[in-house]
Amino acid sequence: MKHRRYLIYVLILLAIGGLVVGAILVKRPQSVSVSKSKFIMDTVVEIRATGLDPEAAIDAAFLEMERVELVFSRHLKDSIVTKINQQAGQWVTVTEEVLALLGKALHYSALSSGAFDITIGRLVDLWGFGTGANQVPNEMELRQALGSIGYRGVEVDANAKRVMIPAGAKIDLGGIAKGYAVDQAQKVLEAAGIKSGMIYAGGDITTIGAKPDGSTWRVGVQHPRDSAKLIAVVELENKTIVTSGDYERYFIDNGIRYHHIINPHTGYPTQGVISVTVYGPEAADADALSTAVFVLGMERGCELIESLPGYEAIIVDQSGNIWVSSGLADEVELR
Ligand code: AMP
Ligand code: MG
Repeated sequence: MKHRRYLIYVLILLAIGGLVVGAILVKRPQSVSVSKSKFIMDTVVEIRATGLDPEAAIDAAFLEMERVELVFSRHLKDSIVTKINQQAGQWVTVTEEVLALLGKALHYSALSSGAFDITIGRLVDLWGFGTGANQVPNEMELRQALGSIGYRGVEVDANAKRVMIPAGAKIDLGGIAKGYAVDQAQKVLEAAGIKSGMIYAGGDITTIGAKPDGSTWRVGVQHPRDSAKLIAVVELENKTIVTSGDYERYFIDNGIRYHHIINPHTGYPTQGVISVTVYGPEAADADALSTAVFVLGMERGCELIESLPGYEAIIVDQSGNIWVSSGLADEVELR
């Protein structure tokens, strides 16, 4: 009897010991940090993410950005934007997604009195941005292309889900589509359970949550004339910053710098401002705004930003003056 009780005690102890050893041996899923880069939308996109399977989440985010590029690039022959341009003067059936982004672009065109204008396509072509054959166009070519500019000519029939641009016009979503792709990538990462991450797409930076160590993300804004230097460091908590700069795409002819952001009223690259960084909740909106403010210039650009709750800006003019909007003071550290 005594022996039996003793045996039961030993068995119980062995069982408890087995459970403890088992619990130690079974590997608990661990959070890891991964960083990957890919060339998408003519730029290097880097995504950092921390989670249980960040690599799969990052790959899904890249796939989504490539899908957005396939829809909105006017340099890919099967994109919807290419179809809209080829069938200028006719209705083209589009998806809800295309209607929504066109609607957003037209909203910022109206808000910026046409400084942001997606019908800029023919002018961008004339200057050779996108094709790589940069040249200063002659006055006659410029005047002809200017005749095709005007966002008010873009017709959107939301009920029938179709779009028509005027014959001879070409739309170019280069000023907004990258921001939209970044927003989409963020959604994919969040849906995959990523609680800490950063998407960097050639000057557009979006963060998710805090850094893996719990501190707030701090991102640099590049000096427009020295890529090794920063003009500012901004704290980003579930926010995005998008920068438009005259250093991103440009050529120099006879000592004059011609860059890729065109004034839709003159047909020439805009003068005055050399870098605009917009801070806010959505990258597509910040992207459209950065291009719009760039064209509007310091004074009108500041006015536009101060009129928009939620969006802030850092603007640098050609003399090196830096303006920071009133709502950003606490998040920005100027260098
Ligand atoms: P971003 O770098 O976001 O400022 O966008 C610049 C790109 O937007 C250019 O490469 C063109 O594709 C396009 N773009 C140029 N000028 C304008 C404009 N005034 N309005 C809208 N898009 C523009
Ligand atoms: Mg932009």
